[in-house]
Amino acid sequence: MTDSVLRAGITRERYPLKARTLTVRRVEELSPGMRRIVVGGDELEDTLPYTRLGVADHVKLVIPDPVTGEVHLPRIGERGMERPAGIDLAIRDYTIRGFDPAAGELSLDFVLHDHGPAGRWAIAAKPGDRIGLLGPRGTTVQPDGYARYVIAADETALPATERWIAEAPQAAVLDVFVLVPDAAEERELPRHPGLRLHWLHRQAGDDLAEAVIAAVPDDDGSTYVWASAEATSVQPVRRHLREVAGFAREAIDVHGYWKLGVAGHQEPHGAPDAPRVSGGSDAAGSAAPN
Ligand SMILES: Cc1cc2nc3c(=O)[nH]c(=O)nc-3n(C[C@H](O)[C@H](O)[C@H](O)COP(=O)(O)OP(=O)(O)OC[C@H]3O[C@@H](n4cnc5c(N)ncnc54)[C@H](O)[C@@H]3O)c2cc1C
Repeated sequence: MTDSVLRAGITRERYPLKARTLTVRRVEELSPGMRRIVVGGDELEDTLPYTRLGVADHVKLVIPDPVTGEVHLPRIGERGMERPAGIDLAIRDYTIRGFDPAAGELSLDFVLHDHGPAGRWAIAAKPGDRIGLLGPRGTTVQPDGYARYVIAADETALPATERWIAEAPQAAVLDVFVLVPDAAEERELPRHPGLRLHWLHRQAGDDLAEAVIAAVPDDDGSTYVWASAEATSVQPVRRHLREVAGFAREAIDVHGYWKLGVAGHQEPHGAPDAPRVSGGSDAAGSAAPN
């Protein structure tokens, strides 16, 4: 670990950059549209950080060549990550859903879609396939002391949401909004005594932002809001919380996890309306995976 930053109840720890090639151990179907892919291998250190409330901690996957299956890892040099010359690497963010140091296994949950290299890799993945893995570059521990947490996610942030439910303080109320394509994508989530779970269906026209905004008309001083989903869809949430509901910066954390029509979407760092401390990604081609 290199340094530690504390900001309004949110801690940030950074780690040196690491690159490894891992192997798919097994694939578990979670729903028609999502699979858990468990990876492992000699290069996976048992000290990989997995911290309570580090719900959005993520790695960057280096997607193999779709024809040969070969993994071209970037070189980690003194100035960070150097991409191999002449190869157009697809590097994408995925949440660390689970880590079992004894078994040497890391669990990643993928949305199955065929619009991009990571989605296509996940659709075809089978035991023995190889994948590159960078990071995690840091751990961001979400705040512990709120009476109520409002968590909003689409399916890409469902892995982080499951971690929220499993790791949030037991005395808190958890209002969780999850937007999925349809009822077939609803599945059993971890349990929490204060959980109020609201499934929303894209195909029925449900709107994630509308639901969240109705749930937090104003800042009562005891609510924390975490929202991650398609970038355009969470913009109204961020705007409402800051400009209408008057939420303090430290009580909200809103991220665009992907953007419709954009390959390898990266959130801009330090966007003025983005109260980000964690998550998101570095600019495309940058040296450090978050
Ligand atoms: C911090 C963080 C954590 C994340 N964790 C997860 C995770 O655990 N599981 C997960 O599945 N995703 C996760 N994502 C989202 C994932 O990184 C993006 O969906 C990524 O764009 C997928 O890469 P791709 O190569 O499949 O598509 P890209 O090459 O990036 O995009 C190609 C096309 O596919 C579209 N597209 C991208 N994602 C989707 C999607 N989910 N559904 C439909 N169309 C899509 C794009 O709009 C674009 O038009 C996370 C993102 C962030 C920032």
